[in-house]
Amino acid sequence: MRIDLHTHSLASDGTQTPDELVAAAKEAGLDVVAITDHDGTGGWDEAVETAQRVGIELVRGMEISTKHRGRGVHLLAYLPDPTHPGLRDSLDKIVEGRGSRAPAMLEALQRAGIDISIDDIVAPVPGRPHVADAMVRRGIVATRDDAFERYLNPGRPGYVDRYAADLTTTIGTVAQAGGITVLAHPWGRGGRRNLPPEEIATLRAAGLSGIEVDHQDHSTPGVREELRAIARELDLVATGSSDHHGLGKSNHELGCNTTAPAEYERLLERAATASATSRRRTPEVVRPGVRMEP
Ligand code: AMP
Ligand code: FE
Ligand code: FE
Ligand code: ZN
Repeated sequence: MRIDLHTHSLASDGTQTPDELVAAAKEAGLDVVAITDHDGTGGWDEAVETAQRVGIELVRGMEISTKHRGRGVHLLAYLPDPTHPGLRDSLDKIVEGRGSRAPAMLEALQRAGIDISIDDIVAPVPGRPHVADAMVRRGIVATRDDAFERYLNPGRPGYVDRYAADLTTTIGTVAQAGGITVLAHPWGRGGRRNLPPEEIATLRAAGLSGIEVDHQDHSTPGVREELRAIARELDLVATGSSDHHGLGKSNHELGCNTTAPAEYERLLERAATASATSRRRTPEVVRPGVRMEP
């Protein structure tokens, strides 16, 4: 069983349609894939159709932009009821914050001598990756990575902060919506200082279900082993995933990291409990050969 629980489509900042993404997951030999676009469920319906057509197990999720102690933290949410008013509200605010930041980013880039117009940007909700892509198309930088490094990361001339939901609050909101939460790449890109073991323990007490251990951003020696030990200690599910963005991120190919079947089972058990406790109508895991209710 090969299980990849973190991928992006064109519904956020991936470069494949949900259909292409799910078909590629099947093609890559995965048995289970989760679609986890940033802050929304726009890719879900198309992904479900393709999963049933090509015969792959599909988990519906999202990656929510949150903040903890002043720093950005990405929170994976699996199988929540997307119509839950509190969750809807929170996602709307994040999407609105990202959209209204775009003009400010372009102004900041103007001041740095970079001339990109809003018409150069192609995206449902323009975030930094889409500004980066526009810079690539204009020949200003070679790759998305270059654009972040030189212009879009915090401290760089094009960086503009935006709204993010509070991490602990969001863990609770997702639980109310009948879903479960997993910290995405918690110790990637300097996250370790912000999320030391004692903080992860506090988040566990607030309802967190798991941490993403095997991720390309966990590249320093020993870091995955340390996180795996923390997961064991705190009885958190340890996941592993690609964080695939199509051509939008190199070295994140589908299935480059995977989740152990036993950990996946534990995750689904927690999801079943969360769903029952919430009394919300939560999405099912899409399974090959099992007909979905309309
Ligand atoms: P935003 O939410 O608009 O601030 O954009 C953040 C998104 O940009 C993240 O979710 C990543 O997918 C993407 N991202 C962050 N850093 C990089 C990077 N160095 N190269 C490519 N994509 C990145
Ligand atoms: Fe992304
Ligand atoms: Fe992320
Ligand atoms: Zn991601």
